[in-house]
Amino acid sequence: MNSRVHQGHFARKRFGQNFLHDEFIIDSIVAAIQPKPDEALVEIGPGLAALTIPVSKKVKQMTVIEIDRDLASRLMENAQLKDKITVITQDALTVDFRTLSAELTKPLRVFGNLPYNISTPLMFHLFQYADVISDMYFMLQKEVVKRLVAAPNSKDYGRLSVMAQYYCQIIPVLEVPPSSFRPAPKVDSAVVKLIPYKEKPYFVRDVTLLSRIVTEAFNQRRKTIHNSLSNLFTLEQLTKLNIDPNLRAENLTLQQYCLLTENYVATDNSDLENA
Ligand code: SAM
Repeated sequence: MNSRVHQGHFARKRFGQNFLHDEFIIDSIVAAIQPKPDEALVEIGPGLAALTIPVSKKVKQMTVIEIDRDLASRLMENAQLKDKITVITQDALTVDFRTLSAELTKPLRVFGNLPYNISTPLMFHLFQYADVISDMYFMLQKEVVKRLVAAPNSKDYGRLSVMAQYYCQIIPVLEVPPSSFRPAPKVDSAVVKLIPYKEKPYFVRDVTLLSRIVTEAFNQRRKTIHNSLSNLFTLEQLTKLNIDPNLRAENLTLQQYCLLTENYVATDNSDLENA
């Protein structure tokens, strides 16, 4: 059998299709999620339903978002699923999760074995809806999980770490070898749980500004922040905030990025408004 064919479906590389077939891993993920009958479970990329079927058995109704029309049709016709699931045939990156939560009249519990090519933009997309999501469980490349949980002063610490840790508590759940998928990916994977904070440990009024500062700092991560943030903060401003201007992006904590954001003052040299 062609290694890309699974259950009669030819895996599409462009949709990042690596299907789970390891029962132990599937059971472990479902056990971690602990779906309850009345909750609003939303799966991104259900594929051939490896996770969808066991989760659907525990809930009254669930929603799945699948971009691949062939797979979406298969799901709608699946005898075990058709009365239980609502299939949204759409790119998850374009789904308005606030509207979905309003329609379901519940906070969302989002999960998925994410296509690796869109996992980071998808998490950033979901962070915008953090207030209507109670938790998220994602299968990701192990490297991405390392970046999500990275602390300052490490090479894995970057924009994703700061922004994810701003929005969510992050808990690694389990590691998954390539052999658990068909076709097997070239990299190791891991499942992670993200719980959006109801009360954020460090709050900023303008999250777009936080994101902008973090992006500017890490775009030039080898430079000192005095250099990389020179069009946003003067030396005096950094010193006044007790932030050593010779630090690099990876040395600053989330708390310090939030402090910078809350103390940003638009000046004539700032290009922020023109960006
Ligand atoms: N959940 C299945 C499993 O665990 O075996 C499939 C996982 S596979 C890694 C990723 C799934 O996401 C595929 O079904 C793919 O078609 C779907 N997908 C890819 N890009 C997507 C997107 N932008 N929006 C929604 N689904 C997408």
